[in-house]
Amino acid sequence: MISLYEVGPRDGLQNESARLPVEDKLRLIAALAEAGLKRIEVGSFVRPDWIPQLAETDEVARRAPRRPGVRYAALVPNRQGLDRAVAAGIGEVAVFMSASETHNRKNTNKSIAQSLEHFGEIVPAAKKQGLFVRAYLSTVWGCPYEGKVDPRRALEISLRLREMGCDELSLGDTIGVGNPLQTRKILEHFLGQLPAAMLALHLHDTHGTALANCLVGMEMGISMFDTSVGGMGGCPYAPGAAGNLATEDLASMLADMGVETGIDLDKLIEAGWLAQQLVGRKLPGRRLQAALGRRAPGEAREGAST
Ligand code: MG
Repeated sequence: MISLYEVGPRDGLQNESARLPVEDKLRLIAALAEAGLKRIEVGSFVRPDWIPQLAETDEVARRAPRRPGVRYAALVPNRQGLDRAVAAGIGEVAVFMSASETHNRKNTNKSIAQSLEHFGEIVPAAKKQGLFVRAYLSTVWGCPYEGKVDPRRALEISLRLREMGCDELSLGDTIGVGNPLQTRKILEHFLGQLPAAMLALHLHDTHGTALANCLVGMEMGISMFDTSVGGMGGCPYAPGAAGNLATEDLASMLADMGVETGIDLDKLIEAGWLAQQLVGRKLPGRRLQAALGRRAPGEAREGAST
């Protein structure tokens, strides 16, 4: 069994220019839950003026349709964010930092040491509230400012995050530059000191290598992968390029391989189609576009195709 952690309503929408009303976000979240996704990240409890696309996370989290077995998650940058998450009745929170100093400073206004110190207070407080705590570690495969990142440094940070009580670590290829050999090396490094069950992979598809990297992860025992419906979100460091791996692309590959995910592909395509309509642009997910292309009426599609 492989599980997909849906980041579209947060990581996806955060990087789309469209600003969706609460009702539309709720429709999208309901469609994703209906498709069988069990963990859905619905927003971020940052200051509303920081990320206008996610300004109404409190209301979205409060009103997201409760379904048995479905857990909603949101990012919490600080203590106020955690308090808002608790008030909204969310089941899971995520803290976030980077494995490279420059990206961490640009993304969080803190040094890595400051982030760790800060989370040393937030994570135990979240655990005390009975919340599942995920930690995102970005730029593990490479940093847009520093280039290569030392996996030993990434592992060191991860061990600190586990020590303070994080339940899961999501390792990010934030700029989508990873290749399968590198993925194997990074995971060999991590799996020497952390159990596979504690790790999730957050792989971007900027260079088209996300599925190959997932496969390496699966072969090494990883069973949790972060994806975004339709590949919503793009890449903030390369405008126009793909970002998050599309949920349908991984779900359909796994279905074709006979690997159980609990996802209903037809319903997932419906969710992808809804996402595309809501954000008002053609989304990069290949399986989604293939399905929508077959569905489109009118134009003849026969002809020379090789
Ligand atoms: Mg992402």
